[in-house]
Amino acid sequence: MVIRCSFCEVSSRDAKVIIQRNDHSICNECIALVKELLAEFGIGEVIESKGRCSFCSENHGGDRVVFQGKNAKICSECVGEMENEIKGNHGVQSKVAKKQDTRTHSIISSRVKKGVQSLTAYSVPDYKCRVKLDGNESPFSLPQDVLEMVLKEASSIPINRYPDPNSIELRKKISRISKFPYEGILLGNGSDELIEMIMTTFSGGTGRALYPVPTFSMVRICCLALGLEPIEIELDDEFDIQLSLALKGLAQKNPDIVFMASPNNPTGNSFSEEKILGILDNSGGIVVIDEAYGDFCGKTYLPLIKKYENLVILRTMSKVGFAGIRLGILFGREQLIREINKVRLPYNINYYSQRIAKVILDNSGFVRENLQLIIRERDRVYGELKGISGAKAFHSDANFILFRVDDADKLFGELRRKGILIRNFNTRGLLENCLRVTIGKPEENDSFLEALREILSS
Ligand code: PMP
Repeated sequence: MVIRCSFCEVSSRDAKVIIQRNDHSICNECIALVKELLAEFGIGEVIESKGRCSFCSENHGGDRVVFQGKNAKICSECVGEMENEIKGNHGVQSKVAKKQDTRTHSIISSRVKKGVQSLTAYSVPDYKCRVKLDGNESPFSLPQDVLEMVLKEASSIPINRYPDPNSIELRKKISRISKFPYEGILLGNGSDELIEMIMTTFSGGTGRALYPVPTFSMVRICCLALGLEPIEIELDDEFDIQLSLALKGLAQKNPDIVFMASPNNPTGNSFSEEKILGILDNSGGIVVIDEAYGDFCGKTYLPLIKKYENLVILRTMSKVGFAGIRLGILFGREQLIREINKVRLPYNINYYSQRIAKVILDNSGFVRENLQLIIRERDRVYGELKGISGAKAFHSDANFILFRVDDADKLFGELRRKGILIRNFNTRGLLENCLRVTIGKPEENDSFLEALREILSS
């Protein structure tokens, strides 16, 4: 996908860095230029000083300035934030670097994979907020007694040594808990890494991957980065799989991999079981069911690995309270896991993650309690959202809820101004004017609901 800067219209093929938010983009050179212009002219003297910034969707006036570009407006705060993002991720452009631009540019255009050139990096904006409901994380930290055990464990780690390259003890523990053979379990630095490993391994046939959309964005990113051809099958109006389209795709394209997240992100629903089975029955390649949110609906396809040798199941510890230790788990037949394990980088699970995960799994009562609370809160928030006029909430089996309003960009900006951060998914098509709110602590959910009611009733 080629992105164009909304200000100078340079394309992502030619610009060093383009940052995209909502439907608008700005390149690094325009950020620098707008910053200079804003500094040079005083408030009120720029071409436009008021109006809604296309990036944060906030309506500015008074002490903040807004710059009117060719196809978008940008406010001084967003310019600052994006400049920091570039510094953080890519380093600042120096004058010397500029002189080398032509060479660097030619190396990029001739040597970087076309799939990678067309990508935008997975980005998580670092917005300051009082209530953070954007990342599908758990709002609960460790209870004091478990925290003390974790700290004690961490203090005994020999940091100068490599960790166990095969995470043997941790995999054995997971095997005991899940009653799944140890040899069929592989761990990743988050399930993100496992998605990448699966795609690296299973792309030796047609080099194609089929998946329903919209779904978790890393699926497409991994496909393009690894040179797989994505076969995207649009979900129906209820966000379920269109089985006839999927079966047609399977028959015509014979993909090496089918990827399905159930419950799906960002839609929140589980796919119908008979559609998942229909796909399993008709796939010649490997089928991945990503159960990242499986704990919130109690449904797992794990037992089906006995029946379908081409099925692998992905899980993660990120959504149930441990996003910080980055631990994803893959279950599958031993022979398949052995192939995937060949592309695993050495020591991919660091010492701290291995040891801390063991302590947590030995003391997991609090995890189950937190899960129940999140599920109860999800159902409560869903019920309340249904009663708010101007918002249409979609049923969720996960720890977040997708909902639609008349103007998602405006609502996102207004919630941000009140210190509440959710995710804006407003794009043309199925997710038009949709936003996703993660379920937080009861008081955080109340703050969100109260702010939403206030904004939508004004
Ligand atoms: N799968 C799905 C469906 C997700 O939504 C996410 C995270 N947003 C992941 C996988 C990756 O999770 P992690 O890498 O934290 O395990």
